[in-house]
Amino acid sequence: MEARRSKSKGANSETARDINRSLVLSAIRTSQPVSRADLARQIGLQRSTVSLIVGQLMNERWVVEGGLAQLPRGRKPRLLTLDVERAAIIGVNVMPHRTTMVVADLNSKFLSQESFDTPEDPAALTSTLASRIARLRREQPGTTFEEIGVSMAGRVDRFTQKLVFAPNLGWRDVDVKGPLEAATGLPVSVENAANACALAEVWSGPFAGVQDLIAVTVSEGIGTGIIANGQLVRGTTGAAGEFGHFCMNPEGPACNCGSRGCWEVYASNTAAVRAYNEGAPAGSKFPVRKRKTQRVASVSEFSDLLSLAERGDVQAGEVLERMGWYLGLGLVVLVNGLSPSIVTIVGEVTRAWSRIGPIVQKIIADRVHSHSQTRIIPTNDILQPRLRGTVALVLQKHFQPTLFS
Ligand SMILES: [Zn+2]
Repeated sequence: MEARRSKSKGANSETARDINRSLVLSAIRTSQPVSRADLARQIGLQRSTVSLIVGQLMNERWVVEGGLAQLPRGRKPRLLTLDVERAAIIGVNVMPHRTTMVVADLNSKFLSQESFDTPEDPAALTSTLASRIARLRREQPGTTFEEIGVSMAGRVDRFTQKLVFAPNLGWRDVDVKGPLEAATGLPVSVENAANACALAEVWSGPFAGVQDLIAVTVSEGIGTGIIANGQLVRGTTGAAGEFGHFCMNPEGPACNCGSRGCWEVYASNTAAVRAYNEGAPAGSKFPVRKRKTQRVASVSEFSDLLSLAERGDVQAGEVLERMGWYLGLGLVVLVNGLSPSIVTIVGEVTRAWSRIGPIVQKIIADRVHSHSQTRIIPTNDILQPRLRGTVALVLQKHFQPTLFS
């Protein structure tokens, strides 16, 4: 309701200035190197307005003047590009076991990356990040670090940006933004990891500009980030997208959220590891053949399970197929309910997509009856979609603020 009220108001001059700024910035991003005159023509703004905005963007180190345009006659204008030499974004992806930090330029190119074990105490996370960021600034005195984007495996309040609840971290009401801003002096944006992944998908790459897309992150739990009609779906508080905790079976195994039988207790990495170690998956309706031989050892990491399956371990393969079956069942709900054009799958599970993908596709073919043309697409894990999300969530606030309205 808040968003609707504010939309019905006329745009004040400040809003108009912000919109023009993001239009200029977006046009430079997509057309660089580009002259002021071409920008003005492209956007439909007066040349003087464009020059004023470009001046501000240069002062803020977002944009830099480069070489001269090659024109047949007349004065050759200076060409503008994003200032990838001097301005950088810090992206942080906080997962239950591991936190990864990346430095990216304004074209989203990763410049450096480091990771560390996620501390159990949120205050320790903030102080670790602050000291690592301080070190980066000492090491790179010529770089202006503009902002920090943090994505977390939990729901984030859209107004306070506090982490409301992250079942797999065991954190409630955690403020990362306030302490990290205080420690670094940089603006911090905090977002749910799946939302950040969805934003990254519609920001650049093959699905840029897609209006209806869902990113499904599969790791310790399952998260969904939903873009509908070109907007990120947040709900009244920002908690929209908790499909990982929709109930598949009220009598199913206990979930970290306090409920039972949630989608993620069947289809997450944790669920697959547990199913392998237990031998006979609890509550499973998926037919897993009885093992003839005892397995050699239990696994602690999902990556070990993937490696076992790749090496031909029959039970590991069956557990992955079971995971795919449950993943597909949950996707049927998403596709039937929201009819997106694209669903991207994010996570290590995509490494086994040749095995899992056909199971998912079959369930969708059998159970989706909405004439939906939804394509289910595994995201290449090597491209680090979660980290791309942390950078995209910062950049889009400047380049495409309408996504956040
Ligand atoms: Zn749950």
